Amino acid sequence: MESVQSIVVGAGVVGLAIARALAMAGHEVIVLEATEAFGTQTSSRNSEVIHAGIYYPTGSLKARLCVSGKGFLYRYCAARGVAHDRIGKLLVAVETSELDALAKYAHQASVNGVSLQSMTAAEVTRLEPAVRAVAGLWSDTTGIIDSHGLMTAFLGDAEAAGAVLVTHTPVESVRVLDTGFELRTGGADPMTLHCRTLVNSAGLSAQALAHRFDAPKSLNIPPAYFAKGHYFSLSGRSPFKHLVYPMPSEAGLGIHVTLDLAGQCKFGPDVTRWPDAPDYAFEQGLEQRFEDAVRRYWPDLPAGALQPGYTGVRPKLSGPNEKAADFMIQGPADHGVPSLVNLFGIESPGLTSSMAIALEVLSALGVTPCCDGPEYTGPLGSERHTTREA
Ligand SMILES: Cc1cc2nc3c(=O)[nH]c(=O)nc-3n(C[C@H](O)[C@H](O)[C@H](O)COP(=O)(O)OP(=O)(O)OC[C@H]3O[C@@H](n4cnc5c(N)ncnc54)[C@H](O)[C@@H]3O)c2cc1C
Repeated sequence: MESVQSIVVGAGVVGLAIARALAMAGHEVIVLEATEAFGTQTSSRNSEVIHAGIYYPTGSLKARLCVSGKGFLYRYCAARGVAHDRIGKLLVAVETSELDALAKYAHQASVNGVSLQSMTAAEVTRLEPAVRAVAGLWSDTTGIIDSHGLMTAFLGDAEAAGAVLVTHTPVESVRVLDTGFELRTGGADPMTLHCRTLVNSAGLSAQALAHRFDAPKSLNIPPAYFAKGHYFSLSGRSPFKHLVYPMPSEAGLGIHVTLDLAGQCKFGPDVTRWPDAPDYAFEQGLEQRFEDAVRRYWPDLPAGALQPGYTGVRPKLSGPNEKAADFMIQGPADHGVPSLVNLFGIESPGLTSSMAIALEVLSALGVTPCCDGPEYTGPLGSERHTTREA
C-alpha cells in the first residue's frame, strides 16, 4: 500500500489552495480528484467575484476569511499575473422601503472592516446611468477574477513544491487508524492509500464522503442542502461598468449584474430549487422572473435580451427559510480525530476566501505555514492585471 504524508480530497479552488499551502509548508501532498480535471464543479460555476465582505455576520468565519482572503487574493493575483480587475460594486436600494436594509448593510460592512461609500440617487446615476435607484453603497474593494487562472496558479505552486494531482480518482471510503487514514478509491484504477494527514475538501460531496468514514467516534456531520442558481447572459453590449447588486434575497445575494473579464454581462444567480442531489440542468421558463427582477434596477432591459447561461449549486448547511449558516471547518479540536479536517458548507464567498481557508486548515492541523508567498506582502489590489479592453 502506497503511503503519503498528506492527502487532500477534492481539486476545487479550496482544495487546491489547501494543497498549495500544505506543500509549501513542506508536506508531501497528493490531491485526489473524482472527475477528469481540477475545478469542474462549484469552482467553475460561480460569479467569479472577489467579494468585499459586506453581508456576513459579525465574528463569523465568512466575515473574517472573506476580508482576509480578499487581501491575499489581490496580492497573489497581482504577483502571479492571474487575470482580475478591481472594478467595484454598487449595492442599490430601488425603493425607499429598502433604505433600512441598505443602512443595515453599511453598518455590517463597517463592523467587518469593509469601507463603503454612501451614494445618493444622483450619484448612482452618474456612476451607472442605466441604473434606477433611490440610494446606493459603493464598494471599491470588490472585483472580478479568472477563477480557472487562479486554480492553475495554485496547482502550479503546489506542484512546484512537490504536490501531485491525481484525477479520475473518487475516494470511496476512509478507515481511521491509529497511524492515520486508509483510503480506498474507485474509478478505472482502484487503489488503497495510507496518509497521516487528511483534508476532506469535496465540496458538494463533503458530507457524503464523511458519512463513509469508518471512525471510532461520531464526526458531527452537518446536514447537506443544495441550492441551485441560474445565470442568464445579456446578448449585446453591457450598459454597466461595475457590478450592480440589488438587496439580497432569501439564500442568495439577489439577481445581480456580473461582468466577466471580457466585459460580457450576465445576471444571476437566482435560488430556484433545492434539489435532493446536485444537478446542473437549466430549468425552462425562468426568463420572465429574471426580466422582472432585473427591470427593478435596469428599467430599459430590452425584451428578449436574456439568453440562458449556466447553473451552479450552493453547498449549504441551512435549508429553505432557515438562517444562513457559516462555513464549517472541523479540525481535531472539533471531532477528536487527529490530523483530519472536514470542510462543510463552503459556499460563497468560498472563492474569495480560498487562501484564508487554507491557512485556517493549516492552523487546525498545527502546521506552520510558509510565509514566503506573494499573498503576504504588497498593497491591496492597487495593481490591475486584466484581459479587458479599455
Ligand atoms: C452559484 C454560485 C455563485 C458563487 N459565486 C461566488 C463568487 O462570486 N465569489 C466567491 O467568493 N464565491 C462564490 N461562490 C462560492 C465558490 O464558488 C465556492 O465556495 C468554491 O468554488 C468552493 O470550492 P471547493 O473547492 O470547496 O468545491 P468544488 O469546486 O466543488 O470542489 C470540490 C471537488 O471535490 C471533488 N470531489 C467530490 N467528491 C470527491 C471524492 N469522493 N473523491 C475525490 N474528489 C471528490 C469534486 O469533483 C470537486 O472537483 C459561488 C457559488 C455558487 C454555487
